[in-house]
Amino acid sequence: MSGEDKQEKYVTCVKNIEFHAAHATPVNGAPLLHGHTFIVHACVEGELTKGGWVVDFTLLSNIVKDVINQEYNFRLLLNREDASKVKIIAPFNVRITYVNGPPTAELLAKDICQKLSKRMLEESIPHSSIKAYRVTVCEGNDLCAEYMTHFTRE
Ligand SMILES: [Zn+2]
Repeated sequence: MSGEDKQEKYVTCVKNIEFHAAHATPVNGAPLLHGHTFIVHACVEGELTKGGWVVDFTLLSNIVKDVINQEYNFRLLLNREDASKVKIIAPFNVRITYVNGPPTAELLAKDICQKLSKRMLEESIPHSSIKAYRVTVCEGNDLCAEYMTHFTRE
């Protein structure tokens, strides 16, 4: 050994998963309802499994797409605090997803990350081998926010 402290990290990612939604976030101080094509990247850091990967791409991709299709795509994304104030009367259906806090890209990334983590547990991925999740949510191609969560285990 050379005495160097070498650290290795393996991260499996799925990228460019799109969904279309409207949200109300502050523009010039007041919440403004508007829409985006949101783009999601999701990464899982962990130990290599016997398969030579952290997580199977297909499994990770399917989980992220499931979460997005069930809870975000073609939805109106709003702050849970506003639930009692929302009244929409229109000749069309509106599907609403409430987020804990303002539905900014940052908090959407956190929400998606928490749902991804929960689903990974349900899929009996060996959770002890996962060290971190990172979810990025972009409004279009250039405005992105990232949420990361690290596990510290003894
Ligand atoms: Zn926006």
